[in-house]
Amino acid sequence: MTARRIDGKAAALAIRERVAAFVPAFVGKAGRAPGLATVLVGEDAASAVYVRSKNRATAETGMVSFAHNLPDTTSEDQLLQLVTDLNADAQVDGILVQLPLPPQVNATRVIETIDPAKDVDGFHPINAGRLASGLPALVPCTPLGCLHLLKQELGDLTGLEAVVIGRSNIVGKPMAQLLLAENATVTVAHSRTRDLPAVVRRADIIIAAVGRPEMVRGDWIKPGAVVVDVGINRIPTDDGKGRLVGDVAYDEAADVAAAITPVPGGVGPMTIAMLMRNTLVAAHRRAGLADPEGL
Ligand code: NDP
Repeated sequence: MTARRIDGKAAALAIRERVAAFVPAFVGKAGRAPGLATVLVGEDAASAVYVRSKNRATAETGMVSFAHNLPDTTSEDQLLQLVTDLNADAQVDGILVQLPLPPQVNATRVIETIDPAKDVDGFHPINAGRLASGLPALVPCTPLGCLHLLKQELGDLTGLEAVVIGRSNIVGKPMAQLLLAENATVTVAHSRTRDLPAVVRRADIIIAAVGRPEMVRGDWIKPGAVVVDVGINRIPTDDGKGRLVGDVAYDEAADVAAAITPVPGGVGPMTIAMLMRNTLVAAHRRAGLADPEGL
């Protein structure tokens, strides 16, 4: 195995520490700590774990979290009312509505109701449009975390061939926009892409955001490429506990790539770190302060 293992945990910790270091100065100027409201609807176990980690991370950075846990019978109107109340709450700088939502709730309508200035997930069409237009925006946390790891690994991305596998609004599309803004040459692949292995073989940078366990094989990867694996897939094991794997066959890929993110311990921790970063940034912008430098 020759590839460097990109340590997302360490990178995430460093960002969280940098966020925490900015909080006292913000409190000094604004007279309050940055606040993140999390909204969890229903009992989905994985979502509950994510939201708990987000609330814990918020407290650890010295920011305030407001946790709203609603039953899975919550109506769309009730959820929209909560979001409207949070939009109006001066203590709240960021609103995170954990997805997926139960079937009676239209997630698009909920996202469109969040004040774009508090949209720390970066999913509102205003933020997506601003990102695509090269304007300051709140950018989705997972692709922002991927970009951070890539720049840490490669420095300048200018002219590099990047292939993003996946075109979701949450990962693939904003990832492509971020890479384009860094002057990479970007291809976005998806389920209808013809001869995906040949497309991926062109890449200096591979971002896999598909949701298919170990789909990207070692012989798809150009020697020396940098691989960022966004996928989180639980596969069954004999002991019944299951095991987390990414969208990339790690061992095969690590024989060919220059560097690769593991699953777990790669992109996952970066997502929460970037949520902390976005909350801090949203708080500064809402308070009329300059963006915290170097974050
Ligand atoms: P979506 O299901 O929304 O999107 C998956 C994308 O993969 C789609 O664009 C789909 O194409 C494409 N795809 C599916 N099958 C294939 C295939 N056989 N070949 C090529 N492309 C394919 O997923 P998300 O973007 O939300 O998430 C992707 C993965 O990342 C999941 O494993 C998820 O758990 C993980 N994730 C991890 C996060 C983290 O914090 N680390 C955060 C968010 C997600 P098409 O559009 O044509 O259907």
